[in-house]
Formats: sequence, structure tokens, C-alpha cells
Amino acid sequence: MTLASAEERRVVGAVRKDLLVGGEWRTAEGGRRYAVEDPATEEDVAEVAEASPADAAAALDAAVAAQAGWAATAPRQRGEILRRAYDLMTARADDLALLMTLEMGKPLAESRSEVAYAADFFRWFSEEAVRISGDYKVSTSGANRVLVMRQPVGPCLLITPWNFPAAMAARKVGPAFAAGCTVVLKPAHQTPLSALAIAQIFDEVGLPPGVLNVVTTTSPGDVTAPLLADPRLRKLSFTGSTGVGSRLMAAAAERVLRVSLELGGNAPFLVFADADLEAAVTGALIAKMRNGGEACTAANRFYVHSSVAAEFTERLAAAISELPVGRGTEPGVRVGPLIDAQQREKVAGLVDDAVSRGAKVLCGGAAPRRNGYFYEPTVLAQVPEDAEMASTEIFGPVAPVSSFDDDEEAIATANRTEFGLVAYAYTRDLGRALNVAEKLEVGMLGLNRGLVSDPAAPFGGVKASGIGREGGDIGIEEYLETKYVSIDKTW
Ligand code: NAP
Repeated sequence: MTLASAEERRVVGAVRKDLLVGGEWRTAEGGRRYAVEDPATEEDVAEVAEASPADAAAALDAAVAAQAGWAATAPRQRGEILRRAYDLMTARADDLALLMTLEMGKPLAESRSEVAYAADFFRWFSEEAVRISGDYKVSTSGANRVLVMRQPVGPCLLITPWNFPAAMAARKVGPAFAAGCTVVLKPAHQTPLSALAIAQIFDEVGLPPGVLNVVTTTSPGDVTAPLLADPRLRKLSFTGSTGVGSRLMAAAAERVLRVSLELGGNAPFLVFADADLEAAVTGALIAKMRNGGEACTAANRFYVHSSVAAEFTERLAAAISELPVGRGTEPGVRVGPLIDAQQREKVAGLVDDAVSRGAKVLCGGAAPRRNGYFYEPTVLAQVPEDAEMASTEIFGPVAPVSSFDDDEEAIATANRTEFGLVAYAYTRDLGRALNVAEKLEVGMLGLNRGLVSDPAAPFGGVKASGIGREGGDIGIEEYLETKYVSIDKTW
């Protein structure tokens, strides 16, 4: 294992690298392990357990065994466990941030923000655990009574991606625990360490055995397929690509398994003629460059009114070309590496395709010659609509800009995608803002803002961007069933 400093060795060394099943840390079947790589150095930083389908089945057994007891636990107690997890995560924020940077590559400052954001889901849902309500009504005839109760769905399989290794897990684990569900968590194979560190925190704050089970693997299909087919599993919550999400949805359909899907995006970023350009450039930097562009919410297509397009694009290119690129642990670095060689090739291919169709490179446009999966922060102007990147999630630090002349044309172009996760719009005109908000086919809109994520807000998309919402006061709904009891009042 190659780690640059004693601090890195300490932080990685402190993580349990086995499977968490039924409250016990155990090795995988046959003692198998796989290596976790630092994408900034291409060096291995740790080895974790390589779960088999039998290990995953054991994790589901444990979740099923713990379900009734956890559902019966007092809501206040569930809330207090979540709150203690928030406190401990906050106390360990620096270590968790370093761990995340080592396995995923994002700059330390961004890892710190993600740890705070992730912990906040535990705080938010610690407060929601005690507010699960029901209903009592008189039937329309007046003769009967309608009692509505909310109950936990039951054991859940949670599958998370590598781009936000802590937040995507917290956004599912928090509401699941608050609702009284037990879970099997399968993090992305590239970033298991953050999930394992969070599991350790729950272990330390007194979560009963079996409520949280963690399986790490490089064979996600083989390991999770038996769980999806098992009638004891009651819910799948998945965050990841639309391709995998739709295949999992098809598998879940076999058993009519309840699903929540947080899938890919292709966010348009609209700058209208009356926009505050300075604010738009600041927002664009956040919407595009946060997480190195590896965010489902990343601005993927910039549409700027032709009267301000040249100025906006030049200012954006000036700001983006100044962002320091490097290993996320280095001071001042603003853009880390992409997650792997495959992702870097994809980004390079999309840029080459756009340039071959007439796009102009204002900055970047290549992968630097160095170790690590880096790609230069890039701004492309005059990107034609038939460029592949207009319809593909770039997932990298590349900002393609095109111009428009008419509001309705811009809205129609923004909607011309299978995705519908988020959009951004900059305008100072209230009527125009409301028109855009009503007509864009998205689950979320950043209005004069380049960031929408908030534990208090319902996060999620429409169209091929998914089903369901995470966070906000409706986030817990995904983990609750409604049961109605019809009561005869005639006797
Ligand atoms: P991915 O390839 O779909 O993987 C996501 C997760 O699914 C990983 O844990 C992966 O495991 C697992 N997986 C892959 N194939 C599977 C299978 N056949 N059965 C069961 N699980 C399987 O996505 P990604 O590349 O990690 O993440 C990037 C994508 O996530 C982007 O499209 C992004 O937009 C989306 N995303 C969406 C949101 C949102 O809230 N809407 C948030 C973040 C990311 P392995 O790691 O072992 O492959």
C-alpha cells in the first residue's frame, strides 16, 4: 500500500475493512479481498473484503432478524442514535474527509463539505424519526372509522455510487433508520472506506446488531441479484447511472419490489439576457466544477443569451483556467482527478467529438501528462446541439457553452433530453423566472444559485433521472408503508 504521510496511514488504518454482518465484522467467504485505489496516484491505498453472494445472503439474514426489534424501538431512541452518529461524524470530520479524498480524489475542502452534508442527514432524520404521523377519520357514511397508520417498509437494500461516498449512503441510511427499517448497504467498489467508516460510527453509538449491514464487492450484479429475488427484501434504494438503475428496476419488477431510484442527469444552465453575469459565473463554477464535474447535478449544458454569451464564456473560461489541479490532499487544489481511466477516456472522447463538430476550445481540452486520472478544466464555446455531450452526462470538468435568442427556444432545448434531474437559471425578472420554473421538466431548479443540495429539501428527478425523493420532510416516505384499518362503529 502506498500512502504519502503518517496521517494518511493512520486514517486508513483506523477503518475496519471487513464486512459488517449482524453486528460483527467478519472476513468475506474464502478470505477474499480487493484493492482500493487512489485515483490521484493510481496506487493502492487499502484492501477490503470481497463479498460473495453467500456473504450478502448472510447480511440480509441479519437485516431480517433485526427488523421487528428495530421497528419496535421507540422513535426517540432511533432518533437519538442518529443524532449521536451526527455528533461523532462531525467530531471526526477531518479524518473522514481525508479518507474520502484518498479513495475518491476530490479536494479536501470538498470532502469536508460532503462530510458535513452527509452528517446533516443523520441530524435531519433524527428529528423526523419522532414525527411519523397517522390519521383518524369518520367514513363518508358516518358509520365506520378510518384509521391510517405508517409502518416501516422492512429490510432494504441500499446501493450507492462513488461520487459522493458518504452523502449518498447517509441520504438513504438516515431515513431508513428513522422509519424503523434495517438495511444492507452496498457501496461502490471504488469507495468502500467512507461507508465502512460510517458503519463503524453507528457501531460505536449503539445501533443494535443487524440494523446496518455492509457488503463490499467488485461483483455487484452477482452479489445483489439473490437479494433482489428474496421475498424478505422489501425495498431497493439505488443511486447511480440510469442504465444500471433501469436494469435493477426490471429485476425488482419481477417481485413488485418497492424502488427509489436517483439516477443520471444532464443539467441545463440557462443565462438570460438580464442575468447578473458575475453571479452567473460564480454559480456556473459551483454547478460545473464541484466534485470535478462528477456530480449528477453538474451543469452539463450552458445555454446563454446571445447578447451576453461572449462575455459570459470568456469570464467563465478565465475563472475555470485558474483552478489549481492536483491531488486533493495538496493545499489549494480545487480540481482533483477523475475516478478512473475509463471515465477520463469518456470525457476526452466527448471533448474530441464536440471539437470535431466545430466547438472552440477556450481552455483545457486535454489530459495532462502525469500519474492519476486527471483531465484539464475545459471550456468549449459554440458547441453544436448534435455534439454527443449535449445528450450525454459528461461527468468531468468540461463546460460546453451554446447561445440562444429566444426564451421559449432555450426552454425547449433544455427539455430536449431523456433526463430531468436539475436545471439552473439566472435571471432578475420574476415573470421570466416563474415561466422557466413552471416549464422546465426537472425535479429541482437552482434559481440564481449553482447548488440545490440541502437536507431540508426533497432531492430527486423526473423522467429517466429517477423515482422518489431523498431528504426533506417527504424523504422518510420512501421507507414507510401506509396501512389503513377500517373500523366498524355500528356496535
Ligand atoms: P453505476 O455504475 O450505476 O454504479 C452505482 C452503484 O451500482 C455502484 O455501487 C455499483 O457497484 C452498483 N452496480 C453496478 N452494476 C450493478 C448491478 N448490475 N447490480 C447491482 N448494483 C450494481 O454508477 P456510478 O458510475 O457509480 O455513479 C455515477 C452515476 O450515478 C451517474 O450517472 C450519476 O448521475 C449518478 N448519480 C445520481 C445521483 C442522484 O441523486 N440522482 C447522485 C449521485 C450520482 P460497483 O461500484 O461495484 O460497480
